[in-house]
Amino acid sequence: MRVAAYLFSALCGFGFMSLTYAHEETHDHKHHEHHEHEGHRHHGAHVHGMATLDLVMDDQELMLHLQSPLMNFLGFEHEPETEQQKAIYQDMLQQLERKDSLLTVEGTTCQAESIEIEDPFANQDEAGHADVDVSYFLRCEQPDKITGLKINLFDLYNRLETLQVQMVLPTGQQQLELNPQRTTIRIN
Ligand SMILES: [Zn+2]
Repeated sequence: MRVAAYLFSALCGFGFMSLTYAHEETHDHKHHEHHEHEGHRHHGAHVHGMATLDLVMDDQELMLHLQSPLMNFLGFEHEPETEQQKAIYQDMLQQLERKDSLLTVEGTTCQAESIEIEDPFANQDEAGHADVDVSYFLRCEQPDKITGLKINLFDLYNRLETLQVQMVLPTGQQQLELNPQRTTIRIN
C-alpha cells in the first residue's frame, strides 16, 4: 500500500516535469542554443489529441492519474467566457467526477474513494495551453480478479485520439497505447 502510493506520486511527477519542459519551449531566443533537458520526460507532454494515464494497482486499491490537454475535452483551453463555454466546462467537470466516465472495471466491483480534479487554469502556460489533471482512488473488492479495464473516455470525447498508459501492477510494469479502436487494457 505504502509502496504503491509512493510509486503513484512518482508517476504523477513525470507529468509535472513535462509541463516544465513545454514551458521552456516557449522561450524566444535570438541566439538559439540547443539545450538537452536532462531528466525531463516526454511522458505527459502537451499534445492535442493525446492524453496519459498512469495506473498503480496493489492488493486493495487502484490509483489512476489522468492528464490531458483541456482541448481534448472542451474544444478550447482558455477560461470559459460565454454561457455555452461555461456549460461545456461544467459538463466536463461533472463527467470527470464519475469513475464510470473514465473506465469500467471488468471482473470485480470497485468503488471510488476519491476523485480529485486540479484547476486546469492554475498551470496554464504562456501560450495559453492548459491541462486537466484528475486523480482517481478506487477500492476494489477482489483486485486479483480484475480481468480488464475498459476506458470509456473515447466514447465521451471524440477529440481524444490516443491515450498512453503506464501501469505498475503487482506483476510488473507495462506500457501501452489505447485509441478509439482499442479501448480495453487486459489484465492477467
Ligand atoms: Zn493546448
